[in-house]
Amino acid sequence: MKKRFLPLFLAALTLASGTAGAWGFFGHRTITQVAVYELPSSMQAFYYRHMPELVRLSTAPDERRNDDPSEAPKHFIDMDHYSEDDPFGKVPKQYDKAVEKFTADTLKKYGTVPWVIMETKDNLTEAFRQSDTTAIVKYSAELSHYVADAFVPLHTTINYDGQLTDQKGLHSLWESQLPEKYINDYKLDGEPAKYIKDPLAAIWATLAQSYGFLGETFDRATKIEKTMKPEVRFTFSHKYGKTTRRYSDAFAAEYEKQVGGMVDFRLKSAPNLVSSLWLSAWQDSGKPDLALLMHPAKPTKEEKEKLNTELSAWKKNTLAQDQLLLAQQKVKKVEEADQIKSAKDMAEPPAETEAAPAAPAPADAPAPAPAAPEKVKVKTKTSSGTEKTKQKANDGW
Ligand SMILES: [Zn+2]
Repeated sequence: MKKRFLPLFLAALTLASGTAGAWGFFGHRTITQVAVYELPSSMQAFYYRHMPELVRLSTAPDERRNDDPSEAPKHFIDMDHYSEDDPFGKVPKQYDKAVEKFTADTLKKYGTVPWVIMETKDNLTEAFRQSDTTAIVKYSAELSHYVADAFVPLHTTINYDGQLTDQKGLHSLWESQLPEKYINDYKLDGEPAKYIKDPLAAIWATLAQSYGFLGETFDRATKIEKTMKPEVRFTFSHKYGKTTRRYSDAFAAEYEKQVGGMVDFRLKSAPNLVSSLWLSAWQDSGKPDLALLMHPAKPTKEEKEKLNTELSAWKKNTLAQDQLLLAQQKVKKVEEADQIKSAKDMAEPPAETEAAPAAPAPADAPAPAPAAPEKVKVKTKTSSGTEKTKQKANDGW
């Protein structure tokens, strides 16, 4: 059991030291910010006024993982634990039914994200009923977090970090390194929020789609491994007598060509479920007038102008280029603080690289076959190397 805590500790050190790829909250913050842009005007003024706080609190669930042992399972669901063959047909959608079939302990061990999203949405609905601004902001931010997690393929498998297929580090590569580095190439425009009649069904559909991307997530990395030597593939850093390995910028560049379209597709799809669940909670609570919670009740001239600038940048897909993402401001600070000790940890890109095929899921062409999730690559659970160490503290989403 010691094993469970060691990686957590290391990850905490990495987080605290702020090395590249380890602030890791970029995705959550970006998704939360974009979700605000998708809201109808009846909600947007309130959410926009609280946007910096919402964005900041959207990472709170990850931040409290180290202190709260009950937190970790809320961020994922390892569908392939239940079956590698049509797991979505085997796990009951309703929590009570799933408990009946598998026990609460098993659900806890393999993740509860769909039901945590439902619970958080109910808490938000209640917060609207109570006109409790603090709670509205808190639960909106947390709802954004858990929903965003459901959009990450690696949050749906026991091989969540590629640790069972000798691809350890894939998790933070996919969800942190790539979006942080290539955000300027990603599109973030999206649809207006809409009321969701059956949120649980929408959440499960999202998870099934995430699961459908797993094959590509692993296979595309394997493809690069075949042509890139291990010494080019990884960078190593030594801290506190420990060596940590992560994927190099050279590998990230190749992986981006392979799966960047998929990462972008998930990053730009997530805000719509977030904003739609915010809207649904607000409607379910009886559509309270949010202006009554604002002082001043109307958006100021400055707020209006700022919001309009951001909305037009969002629609033109220039938020990142215009440095309008709040997540970029955080990243900048971390980089500055870390410059002193980092500097030379990156490998040069390899001299020759294979021409890469097009990304599997361009942002405008939704996803290879999420409807029929294929078998996911995992090894048997009998060897010691496959022991579950449920920590995902490097988790960016
Ligand atoms: Zn998370």
